[in-house]
Amino acid sequence: MIPNSELEAYFDATKYVIRNGQFVCTCPQCKKPDHLYCSIHTGAFICFKCGYKGKIDTGNVTPAMEGFKDMVSGLELDGDVETSFKEQKNLSLRGSISVAYHPRARNYLIGRGISLEEMKERNIRYFKNRIYFPNKWDSQKFLTDLWVSRGYTQDKNAKRYLFPKNHPTKYFVYNLHNIEKDADYIIITEGVINSIIAGKKSVCIYSKFCSKSQLYQLIEKAPRSYYVALDFDAKKYAYRLAKNLHKETSSDVFLVNFRDDRDVADLGRDQFTEVLLQSIPFENRLRVNLEFF
Ligand SMILES: [Zn+2]
Repeated sequence: MIPNSELEAYFDATKYVIRNGQFVCTCPQCKKPDHLYCSIHTGAFICFKCGYKGKIDTGNVTPAMEGFKDMVSGLELDGDVETSFKEQKNLSLRGSISVAYHPRARNYLIGRGISLEEMKERNIRYFKNRIYFPNKWDSQKFLTDLWVSRGYTQDKNAKRYLFPKNHPTKYFVYNLHNIEKDADYIIITEGVINSIIAGKKSVCIYSKFCSKSQLYQLIEKAPRSYYVALDFDAKKYAYRLAKNLHKETSSDVFLVNFRDDRDVADLGRDQFTEVLLQSIPFENRLRVNLEFF
């Protein structure tokens, strides 16, 4: 059975009734109230006014949600983080849904270049006007989960990012747990969306500044190469990170040279790959000085 909260989000319904196993609400296409009928068992729906119909992919809605609820139970979120992303707000992710089932949030991510498969693979969630990107972090002592949320609305008062309470981002590297030791390469970006666009071997450090803890975690992975792909306006930090990686590891280190003020997501996958191929080897200081700055 599909949870009501999933259906509410899918149809953007503010009001609904359940009638004989049907979720009945205003049609999101023609806006006619009480004309859209969706089976809560199969996910098949139709509007009896305009004929809009389809089927919600129920494949892993419920298991995914249940798993997620277990993961977050007892955890409260709070946005008290360093840097400029500050927001004091408690929220619980109970009732969050896969972002793939929320039309506006889903379309926002598609617009940024993230596919439906990636939304499911990375378990990207939607909850109360925000998009959450779960992460995982493992240490000898405890296992926890981290979210970053990205307000996708144009609301000027909405803060861009929220992080779980007591989990300052400086201790986490997004997606690093999915990269095996001795990998061919790791691409280091600033933000989650950039990291997803840059691919499965990409991570993000949530800011321009790479903390010692993050640096140590990156070093532990010992890939053959590191590609430092911080944003255009973070050249100083990118240089510093590349220098540290070069000093502390035997890996090859490259600086990704964004020529204008465009980041990974602005470029898109294909163009980013081209830029990546033209990265500057850090050991060639003359080239770095000539081309990078
Ligand atoms: Zn309709």
